[in-house]
Amino acid sequence: MSLQNNSQKEKNAVLGGVLYLVATPIGNLADISERALKVLSEVDFVAAEDTRNSGLLLSRFGISKPMVSYFEHNKHERGTQIIARLKNGESCAIITDAGTPAISDPGEDIVRLCAAEGITVTSIPGCCAAITALTLSGMDTRRFCFEGFLSVNKGERRERLAELSDERRTMIFYEAPHKLRTTLSDLLTAFGAERQIALCRELTKLNEEVCRTTIGRAVEMYSEREPRGEYVLIVEGNVQTAAKINYPADPILHVEELVESGMSKKDAIKAAAKARGVAKNEIYALVMKKDEE
Ligand code: SAM
Repeated sequence: MSLQNNSQKEKNAVLGGVLYLVATPIGNLADISERALKVLSEVDFVAAEDTRNSGLLLSRFGISKPMVSYFEHNKHERGTQIIARLKNGESCAIITDAGTPAISDPGEDIVRLCAAEGITVTSIPGCCAAITALTLSGMDTRRFCFEGFLSVNKGERRERLAELSDERRTMIFYEAPHKLRTTLSDLLTAFGAERQIALCRELTKLNEEVCRTTIGRAVEMYSEREPRGEYVLIVEGNVQTAAKINYPADPILHVEELVESGMSKKDAIKAAAKARGVAKNEIYALVMKKDEE
């Protein structure tokens, strides 16, 4: 059954000279969209990060299409060839191994090239592991930042995490299973044991799991458990930094707001005192007096 009205049909026509960024499932084939299948069936050719994987995906949906590979190590040379074909009036769909092209995969370069050449690029939206994990994390989704993969270089990775130690927004990291333990240990050093983390693995698959815990407990858990599958790590922003910026004039209200945001009373007193530049005991005394009233 088609859910399109006439103007949507017009928008959904596949046109020559256009690059289509087509999101594909991140683990569950049922997540492919009607529009993705239409575009993949109708374009002149498909550029894929891994032609073997993508060939299997297309054949599952009965689609057979000429394919070219487009991945990290051939993206410059292949990008120029794709641009030439688009300029010649062909239509191209770009797909990556999973999810939304251009998010932590080579798609972003071809979009930049097309923009520079005045070639139309349009997106067929769908799965993205980062957003799927964020929405499941239970953390603040109003403001977040995407960090993708941390560097494999130890020094660079630690430096980046140190730069993020005052980040107030919820942070999103991608991680491979064989690097999970090292990353958790670096997160512990940078953010401390009490910071909230959601480890989201195998999303949309049979073994989907979301573990909401603290960084300290996650490190303990994975010292005994073997990391398996693909992970997105959602890390709480620095609420203590957040507390420093905007706070009510009344210190008791300040502490109450921090407790409401999820801090223990002890941490809230400490954070409020630090933000206001006063001794912890001073705030503690005010809170105790209020509690006794
Ligand atoms: N473009 C993709 C997207 O839209 O999410 C991401 C590509 S990136 C090369 C692959 C990383 O995404 C994995 O290492 C993992 O961190 C994350 N990822 C992909 N699929 C996932 C899944 N089903 N569950 C958890 N994480 C996933």
